[in-house]
Amino acid sequence: MNFENNLAFAQALDQQDSLREMRNEFLFPQQNGKPFIYLCGNSLGLQPKVAREVLEVQLNNWQNLAVEGWFDGDSPWMFYHKELKNLMAPIVGSKPLEVCPMNTLTVNLHLLMVSFYQPKAKKYKIIMEFGAFPSDQYAIESQIRFHGYDPNDAIIEVKPREGEYTLRIEDIVKTIEENGDEIALVLFGGINYFTGQWFDMPAITKAGHKIGAIVGFDLAHAAGNVPLQLHDWNVDFACWCSYKYQNAGPGGISGIFVHEKHFGDTSLNRFAGWWGYKEDQRFKMEKGFIPEAGADGWQVSCTQVMPMALYHASLQLFEKAGFLDSLRTKSKTLTSYLFYLINQVNNTLGEEQFKIITPQAENERGAQVSIIAKADGKKIFDALVAHNVLGDWREPNVIRLSPVPMYNSFEDVFRTGELLLTISQSIK
Ligand SMILES: *Cc1c(COP(=O)(O)O)cnc(C)c1O
Repeated sequence: MNFENNLAFAQALDQQDSLREMRNEFLFPQQNGKPFIYLCGNSLGLQPKVAREVLEVQLNNWQNLAVEGWFDGDSPWMFYHKELKNLMAPIVGSKPLEVCPMNTLTVNLHLLMVSFYQPKAKKYKIIMEFGAFPSDQYAIESQIRFHGYDPNDAIIEVKPREGEYTLRIEDIVKTIEENGDEIALVLFGGINYFTGQWFDMPAITKAGHKIGAIVGFDLAHAAGNVPLQLHDWNVDFACWCSYKYQNAGPGGISGIFVHEKHFGDTSLNRFAGWWGYKEDQRFKMEKGFIPEAGADGWQVSCTQVMPMALYHASLQLFEKAGFLDSLRTKSKTLTSYLFYLINQVNNTLGEEQFKIITPQAENERGAQVSIIAKADGKKIFDALVAHNVLGDWREPNVIRLSPVPMYNSFEDVFRTGELLLTISQSIK
């Protein structure tokens, strides 16, 4: 599309946007009586208006049914997670049986590594991206120590080349191939939180399987943001959080994916709990763990009803929007417009005031654009906030801006570009 740097153009795009009403489903934080232009959905998605209502429903169930709520009422808590599985499956491209909502993200990363990181004498290493989200680094380090290995030896990080910020797929594949004999697990983010780079997940999965490794992904920044086909790509396992692009609230419930090819494998370790026990026999309370079929067999504790109600409501908004197909179509244009406007700022200033480190190619990024200011990055970020644009700041020097197709408009993006220019001019 040939973009134009003016308000009328942005407003015309909003007029043509079939998802423009979706923003009315959300509550925007305010400052000085004005709503923020919220570009932080990659960190914490906005509150759907219906959130309060669905919590109220469950509070009423608790009040009126108390313990009977597990089996009585319109949607008994005992089976409540099943109502989410059909809605989660299209978000990650899986069969409903392969996904389950439970726990929180890092907890699930640990539980899945218990099953899928099974180091053997010579094949014990984990390969991951350099600069992965800290929680993933800590989880992986501690799992390696738990198995008696040294993280300094057992972690192979794929780094960007000198002077580059993002990874090249050929470097990832080459590192996997070169260390093939030693790698037990390939564990990458789907999208890197810092750079916004969407990795070539099918290529990574293929390369990992070729050397006999298990391949898993942390989809915190990918689920609900970019289209995924975990089943068809033959990914072994994945997990994600629901509070970023999926708007299910702070500390919201996580989702897991386990490929169905692993369902029959009784050799997999599990840290088991009663909620993963075969459902129709769970309340016999017998000795000896027998897992429920599918991803549900990885559950540990009883259903977290409140966070699950919030995730359920937000998944219904994805269904209403037409799942990721229509959202992604808008997202590509919305974020491309932001790329264009940042480049316009640089052109107007006659220098690279903002270095964009996120890949511009549509198949290498989602909604997020990460930029590094030539100087005064934190000052510029603070000025954006003061002018009602809320992105986020990541140490040491990155401003992340994520126009989310569910509730951001082309006008939001235009106004952000305009502000980046005026702030840069006033700081000079
Ligand atoms: C946001 C994020 C997390 C957060 O983990 P929690 O357990 O939900 O606190 C973990 N990993 C990645 C890659 C993330 O982006």
